[in-house]
Amino acid sequence: MNSDTNTSVSRALFERARAVIPGGVNSPVRAFGAVGGTPRFMASGSGPYLTDADGNEYVDLVSSWGPLILGHAHPGVLEAVRRAADLGTSFGAPVEAEVALAEEIVARIAPVESVRLVNSGTEATMSAIRLARGFTGRAKVVKFAGCYHGHVDALLAAAGSGPATLSLPDTPGVTGAAAGDTIVLPYNDLRAVEEAFAAHPDAIACVITEASPGNMGVVPPRPGFNAGLRELCHRHGALYVSDEVMTGFRASATGWYGIDGVAPDLMTFGKVMGGGFPAAAFGGRADVMRLLAPDGPVYQAGTLSGNPVAAAAGLATLRACTPEVYEHLDAAARQLGNLVSQALAAEGVPHRVQYAGTMFSVFFTGAEVVDFDGARAQDTARHTAFFHEMLARGVYLPPSAFEVWFLSAAHDDAALGRVADALPAAAKAAAAAGA
Ligand SMILES: *Cc1c(COP(=O)(O)O)cnc(C)c1O
Repeated sequence: MNSDTNTSVSRALFERARAVIPGGVNSPVRAFGAVGGTPRFMASGSGPYLTDADGNEYVDLVSSWGPLILGHAHPGVLEAVRRAADLGTSFGAPVEAEVALAEEIVARIAPVESVRLVNSGTEATMSAIRLARGFTGRAKVVKFAGCYHGHVDALLAAAGSGPATLSLPDTPGVTGAAAGDTIVLPYNDLRAVEEAFAAHPDAIACVITEASPGNMGVVPPRPGFNAGLRELCHRHGALYVSDEVMTGFRASATGWYGIDGVAPDLMTFGKVMGGGFPAAAFGGRADVMRLLAPDGPVYQAGTLSGNPVAAAAGLATLRACTPEVYEHLDAAARQLGNLVSQALAAEGVPHRVQYAGTMFSVFFTGAEVVDFDGARAQDTARHTAFFHEMLARGVYLPPSAFEVWFLSAAHDDAALGRVADALPAAAKAAAAAGA
């Protein structure tokens, strides 16, 4: 593939889409707004590869933004989905599959004693916040700049990749009432959290944080940061809520919790646990979770929550995520991260490759990135040039400089080799695009 890549079908589909869907997409970053050009409409996926509507093939480094940890159209997952669908797709009544998925999560993640299934990561964090407020009888929520917790009104302030990609400040439509109880602090800054608790005594219901942020690119917590958050929360009667929608079952078999061992009061999950279907969850301490309806007064519900097909896909995915899968992801991430670094260094392009367990991302800046300001200091023009050169050579990267490069168990030597082959030209393009 080269710069003459045929994109006529994608272009025609995008035009049709824009007539009936705002911006032509159902999630903003898909529109290629930050990088320009025609978003590729995908027709099929197999293992580490995507084929677009024009028949162009790509090595996929988006993996549906994280869920597809086993690659596209994994035979075991498809078999589970077919078997479940044959029995009916939704009952509005409890089914065994949702119990099995909940058991799997509880068995894997020690701080989760009880878990409720929902349909998206957004719903999971929204519900966790409501529950934390219900449990503590307090209103305020602390979040960190650059952390994304879905498009929950109260959590859309300084919310990382999506808004950063589009350069949206705070979104219209979120009222002062919805955002007024949100306190946004710089990431990795425990002093700021201490000061917030001092400034708002007995008012903070919870601190919510990405367990290890991935939505401003990979910016791991400094050693002791999460433990410090937990300690401050408990000293001040607040809950420590860890959002593992991205890191859960991906950063390691037991997510970021498996890496730093700091037990949250509540956790949220999504992405990998849905196996490519809309399934997510929130869970944690039994004494907190007991407050949810029908046992308790905090209302939370969902017509399709615990959907049997989604639960089957999630369960098949988690069960296929063997230790070998995580070893492979880890090795592949290090290998690819090193290759990118070598290619960029050869062209003198300032960059940082940052890791969190099996996750990694590339920043076009020379300095270590520890917070959102650091992430935003990168040279996004270099990313744009790099992105398009990779795309023209058959590598589908996240169309934003603030995202994780998602690998899967299906990314074998052949797929990684194709990425490696594309890197020198992309590094040259990044060098030429520098300020
Ligand atoms: C993706 C993500 C969400 C939102 O999940 P959706 O399923 O897109 O609503 C929330 N938190 C984190 C950390 C995420 O990465």
